[in-house]
Amino acid sequence: MSIASTLGRPFASMAPARRRSAATCAVALIAIIFPLIHGDDADIDSLANALSYAALALGLNIVVGMAGLLDLGYAAFFAIGAYVYGVLSSFQLQPDWSSFWEPFAFLGLVARMPGQGAVDVVHTTLSFWLALPLAGAVAAGCGIVFGAPTLRLRGDYLAIVTLGFGEIVPIVARNWTSVTNGASGLNGVAPPSIFGTSFGVDATPYYYVIVALVAALIFVSLRLRDSRIGRAWMAIREDEIAAGAMGVNLVRYKLLAFAIGASFAGMAGTFYVSKLQTATPEMFGFPVSVMILVMVVLGGMGSVWGVVLGAMVLQLLQSWFLPDLTDWLHQLGALIGNDAMQKIDLVQSIELIFGIVLVLMMLYRRDGLIPAHRKEAALTFEQQHAVVERVTAFALPGIAPPTARGKPLLEIKDITVRFGGLVALNSMTLTVPEGGVLAVIGPNGSGKSTLFNVITGLTPPASGSIRFGGKDITGLPSHQILQTGLARTFQNIRLFPNLSVMDNVLVGAHSRMQSGAVRSILRLPATKREELMARERVMEILSLFGNRLVPRVNQAVGNLSYANRRRVEIARALASGPRLLMLDEPTAGMNPAETMELAEQLKQLHTLGLSILVIEHKLDVVTRLADTVVVLDHGEKLTEGLPDEVRRNEAVLDAYLGRAHAAVKDIAVA
Ligand code: ADP
Ligand code: MG
Repeated sequence: MSIASTLGRPFASMAPARRRSAATCAVALIAIIFPLIHGDDADIDSLANALSYAALALGLNIVVGMAGLLDLGYAAFFAIGAYVYGVLSSFQLQPDWSSFWEPFAFLGLVARMPGQGAVDVVHTTLSFWLALPLAGAVAAGCGIVFGAPTLRLRGDYLAIVTLGFGEIVPIVARNWTSVTNGASGLNGVAPPSIFGTSFGVDATPYYYVIVALVAALIFVSLRLRDSRIGRAWMAIREDEIAAGAMGVNLVRYKLLAFAIGASFAGMAGTFYVSKLQTATPEMFGFPVSVMILVMVVLGGMGSVWGVVLGAMVLQLLQSWFLPDLTDWLHQLGALIGNDAMQKIDLVQSIELIFGIVLVLMMLYRRDGLIPAHRKEAALTFEQQHAVVERVTAFALPGIAPPTARGKPLLEIKDITVRFGGLVALNSMTLTVPEGGVLAVIGPNGSGKSTLFNVITGLTPPASGSIRFGGKDITGLPSHQILQTGLARTFQNIRLFPNLSVMDNVLVGAHSRMQSGAVRSILRLPATKREELMARERVMEILSLFGNRLVPRVNQAVGNLSYANRRRVEIARALASGPRLLMLDEPTAGMNPAETMELAEQLKQLHTLGLSILVIEHKLDVVTRLADTVVVLDHGEKLTEGLPDEVRRNEAVLDAYLGRAHAAVKDIAVA
């Protein structure tokens, strides 16, 4: 037996949580003792550089990996952070001394120096330790200012705009000579000092600073990832429309991701210039943005430890491995007398090598070195058939049985929706009473899904008004509509495929929870309690579907069967604690047994007090569930009435069965 497997055995037998903390401790220990056992200053310096890229990769991971916002100009924030400290700690700015500066001098932020002329000048002497949070804040502010107008764009458009921003910042740095000293760069940026001792040019203190910074950023990333905030980001990444419909404020959460990601880069920038003691615009160009992106992709999008590893691997490849490899090739060339081989310089071809690494990753390991989402094993026979205690008498928190049963809950008045020349809904008027079940039926293309979209704020109406619970909700963004108590499912299931069943349903509970970014990072008892309660409630909701979902709670929903995905979507809508549940063809793709099972479960929910608006084709389900049926055809209301009346209605039969039915009728008449 090999030594590695002997040593690894106790590790492998640990519980996953203990294994994770053991691995974390081991990594931390190695990071701390490395300079003590390996005294080579150049190597420590390379590691410190690699770690500053790890900090950058962690920030970009929040933007691209978690929130799914492709940012090709991320190095701009690195530059902003670098120049904040660079400008304020070098002697670049030298305004004339005046009494205005007295308080700053008192705080030790500036110093009075004799100038070249008669007047004294101001030297800014910002401390590195103050600059670190300041640069983070300035970069975050720039992230918000830049993101506010652009984050409405998606995908390729966003990538192009960020690319432009990434180009603009170095250009400004090059041309704003009075502040940045232009292309020749800042001179004499002060190294950090601690207790009056300057770091100087020794690599070790820098190394420990960046180790501490990266550790802090890893901590923040992990805390955010496993919180309501991280879930909201991932929901946006997986399906923006569904995230909005489940109550996630898209603009706010995208901006938050942008700001936090930018602040990481700002701090990394400050560290980087303090170590280099200069800053030139060339240090922050497009290739740097791309390199950081490659690190994130290599490590694993959305994987916190993965991107740290990706950054370290690529940087050390560049500073350790490639020079060595070049040397060996030169020696080999000399040995076999090959001239070309003696001239190779692999470090110069780093971008080519990045490209090759990326292509290989895409071919063989698309999820990165450490994938963000671990695959759960398929269920065993026992797990699949385990009996789950079904919660029958649970009251959905937030939904009291309707107090004013029969009073109008959802009132749609004269709603018209047009897509270009096509009128998808024509002056539609509809009322769902409190505690009622209204079924909408109609042939394909009759405007049923459009009706749902216009109610939930996804499609703007051309005219008309929608009131819910007495409140006008016309034109509100979809996350606000959810908060009024309207939750929906989609005809073509819109779940978050890479997230687990638990996380999907937890996103539904997003608007019922409160923890913001700071509280999620601190994870105070109140936050923990909130999270725990939300999880318990999710389990309650899942157990409504018996053993269909409970044993699969940790599986990624992308792996579930079609029927189970429909159930998860309903559970997700229920998690928001709605007053009105809107289901768009909930039994599509289910077999007859499953269909009746679901109809039964929906009936149960209705008995508990939930009002339901359902689009359904299967008439037995409609008859079983609905008190009222509305028939749509070509965007108009054909008729409305009790299920049995509607079933016998001639116009409905015409609309559904079309000309064939009419022909049969004609023959009968003749
Ligand atoms: P149903 O759900 O009743 O089958 P829909 O509401 O999906 O019907 O569609 C109603 C009509 O509106 C169809 O003719 C469809 O092609 C059209 N439609 C729906 N959404 C859009 C859209 N986003 N752009 C253009 N046309 C659309
Ligand atoms: Mg439809």
